[in-house]
Amino acid sequence: MTSRPICELSPGPDDVAWFEATARGELMVRHCEACDEVHFPPRPICPYCFSDRTAFLKCAGLGTIYSFSTLRRVEVPYCIAYVTLDEGPTIMTNIVDCVLDSIAIGQRVRVVFQTSANGYAVPMFTPVAA
Ligand SMILES: [Zn+2]
Repeated sequence: MTSRPICELSPGPDDVAWFEATARGELMVRHCEACDEVHFPPRPICPYCFSDRTAFLKCAGLGTIYSFSTLRRVEVPYCIAYVTLDEGPTIMTNIVDCVLDSIAIGQRVRVVFQTSANGYAVPMFTPVAA
């Protein structure tokens, strides 16, 4: 149950509010008021209809593993995954704080935050106890 160090992040100007939310332990996606779609990454322009009438939407922090890959031929093995949030978007992330062999497609997960090398809180996911 070790985890690898998270590299330094360099948020852009559109990412500041999002990282302020992760620092509070909140995972945000973006909702489009024009077409009612939810998207991630949380860009200010909707990728579905190109409207700028978008706003942050706080996620419950729960999702389902859509796909994953476990990297074992490295110093500290780790799992990268696509997790489909209950709010709709699928995000690339890491599955952490679990036995890697226990990870499965369709597994329910919840968000946890780990700190990057330069202090940003990064959302990752861990299995929800059955
Ligand atoms: Zn839209």
